[in-house]
Amino acid sequence: MISVAIDGPAGAGKSSIAKEVSKKLGFVYIDTGAMYRAVAVYAIENGIDICGENFTDQVLDKIDISIEYDEDGQKVFLCGKDVTKRIREADASVGASNVAVIPAVRLKLVALQRELAKKTSVIMDGRDIGTYVLPDADIKIFLTASVEERARRRYREMIDKGMEADFEKVKQDIMYRDKNDSEREFAPLRQAEDAVLVDTSDMTIDQVIDKIYSMILEAK
Ligand code: C5P
Repeated sequence: MISVAIDGPAGAGKSSIAKEVSKKLGFVYIDTGAMYRAVAVYAIENGIDICGENFTDQVLDKIDISIEYDEDGQKVFLCGKDVTKRIREADASVGASNVAVIPAVRLKLVALQRELAKKTSVIMDGRDIGTYVLPDADIKIFLTASVEERARRRYREMIDKGMEADFEKVKQDIMYRDKNDSEREFAPLRQAEDAVLVDTSDMTIDQVIDKIYSMILEAK
């Protein structure tokens, strides 16, 4: 069994790349951001203040997140309801970054992530996979790109999916998340010492896929 950790800031291309490379290798792709997004959606839809004092009591005991895999990839269920599409909306992105600073939320989700990685070869993407969730991962990659390029990609992706998007707002959200994710105390966004840095600013998705695919084959 092999585990690959891919970390990096929002919009660096982690999920598109991890999805394709896992398909080529027959590994399971675990998108950990989707889990933080699901916690945020639960809070938003139940009118619970994410920054409120009782957030963990009000949410963590009740929330039931499960992950399933089919030919279309990962599906996320919140208390039995399929929220795979809902978690991609802008309020879920910012909400995810806000719930992600809460240690109790992280501990609950990290337990689920480690459990999934025990069963099979995986490519797991997130912010703290190489540093915290899977410190013994066989391969660690830190993917990054300029803020401008990441915002451009995220904007295009939203438009392609038929979602409403405003470029400046997308860029502001990304900058907000970068700051929030790297400055939190518990398991912040950070490149692991033994991770390989890949700057994708001037690379196409296919070039990045080829590079990471070859890195994994070499290490296998
Ligand atoms: O990767 P994605 O953009 O879907 O992640 C949404 C948010 O969830 C991130 O901005 C980050 O705050 C949080 N997250 C995290 N740790 C992870 C994955 C995501 O804190 N492993």
